[in-house]
Amino acid sequence: MTARRPERLREVQAALAAAGPRGIIAHGRGRSYGDAALNDGGDALLTRRLDRLISFDAGSGELVAECGVTIDEILSVFLRRGWVPPVCPGTAFVTLGGALANDVHGKNHDRDGGFAEHVRWFDLLLADGTVRRVTPDGAPDLFAATAGGIGLTGIVLRLCLRLRPIAAPAVVVREDRMGSLDDFLSAFAGRARQASYSVGWIDTLARNGKLGRGILETAEPAPAGRSFAEDRKGATMPIDLPDFALNPIAVAAFNALYFHRIPAGGRERVLGLRRFLFPLDALDGWNRMYGKRGFRQFQCVLPNGEAAGGIRKLIAAITESRAASFLAVLKTLGRAGVGMLSFPMPGMTLAVDFPNRPDAPDLLHRLERIVLDHGGRIYLAKDSALSAEGFAQMYPRLDEFRRVLAAVDPAGRFQSDMARRLRIREDVA
Ligand SMILES: Cc1cc2nc3c(=O)[nH]c(=O)nc-3n(C[C@H](O)[C@H](O)[C@H](O)COP(=O)(O)OP(=O)(O)OC[C@H]3O[C@@H](n4cnc5c(N)ncnc54)[C@H](O)[C@@H]3O)c2cc1C
Repeated sequence: MTARRPERLREVQAALAAAGPRGIIAHGRGRSYGDAALNDGGDALLTRRLDRLISFDAGSGELVAECGVTIDEILSVFLRRGWVPPVCPGTAFVTLGGALANDVHGKNHDRDGGFAEHVRWFDLLLADGTVRRVTPDGAPDLFAATAGGIGLTGIVLRLCLRLRPIAAPAVVVREDRMGSLDDFLSAFAGRARQASYSVGWIDTLARNGKLGRGILETAEPAPAGRSFAEDRKGATMPIDLPDFALNPIAVAAFNALYFHRIPAGGRERVLGLRRFLFPLDALDGWNRMYGKRGFRQFQCVLPNGEAAGGIRKLIAAITESRAASFLAVLKTLGRAGVGMLSFPMPGMTLAVDFPNRPDAPDLLHRLERIVLDHGGRIYLAKDSALSAEGFAQMYPRLDEFRRVLAAVDPAGRFQSDMARRLRIREDVA
């Protein structure tokens, strides 16, 4: 893969013109877990030097910024001024271009939807080298194909995002133990759905009556003037954990400690917003916990009616495989995304990672089957193993998406390993 790192529009255009037969794909900060931003044998356009903040309107909250600006950089400038991006994924080290191309969601999806809902317009470099300003009303198909479109419609050069005013850079967090999956499901059906933010941490190694036990966190924006636990200073994971540390007994002990750290009656704390939204960002190189062979991530959503049965089967499959997973994450999603390939649907989403052992592909294959049986879908930002057939069943707007690609990029200039694996561009392959 040849990496290009342009700083100006004409350099982006030159990189596109220079791309060979395997095409080119935008690459933000590479925080997608699979191959969405990779292009073996072709070109990748690294966007990190396209990182200028262009304008901000304090009346409307509209920020115009280049695609390589990260959520972390926006927070560094705007948090103390009382503004935040309305949708933040679980790490701040993602670019605006990457956030739009995966139409990312946060712990507030029920209330605030996905990232693309808050984008007023973007400038898109198309396969023919021209730049087009795309709005949801002016070019609804191109907007919906690019939001969640994993970089295949073109390079998003800059975009206009509506930031949200906040009274304080903190949240009031309530943490409660959930003794089982049933406890989680009833909390998510009730009070957690009313909260501004909600997320569950599940111990995937707990079995039988404790299957699906974990901690539920709900949070509300803190009022001005409340003191709060500061965002942590960053620590670094100094080594790759050796394999023996990743056995199910050691990981089960870690998960149990995590569960018991919350008192039986729950607790309430005021936390800095970053600390609440991005817990993993405090540990640089956290992925080294999974050792040299790395790990696989899996995330799916199941529609509301199927969530209870399906999530139970998914957790049971992971537990039985003894895949030694640290905590899994359970969240609710409130509505479909605006993109043709947006991940969200009204339902529950489960995200889990496990060590990259030889049997990991088998487990991922079994999980895909369960998701299909329950009418759900797997998230492309987290995927490295989905089959092309499974993908086509999970994403019902795929034909619409392909029609837009055929119109804007008939020769298939934008390509990626994921697009080839999932046969997304089979019309132009
Ligand atoms: C710890 C962690 C927690 C996470 N939590 C969440 C979460 O809670 N919710 C969630 O939704 N996601 C989550 N993610 C996934 C992450 O938000 C997405 O993968 C995001 O897209 C990564 O952004 P990036 O800038 O690194 O993009 P990359 O991973 O580099 O690229 C992602 C996709 O965007 C495309 N792209 C990037 N820039 C552009 C551009 N300028 N123009 C066109 N296409 C572009 C790429 O081609 C690729 O298809 C998490 C990831 C991590 C590592």
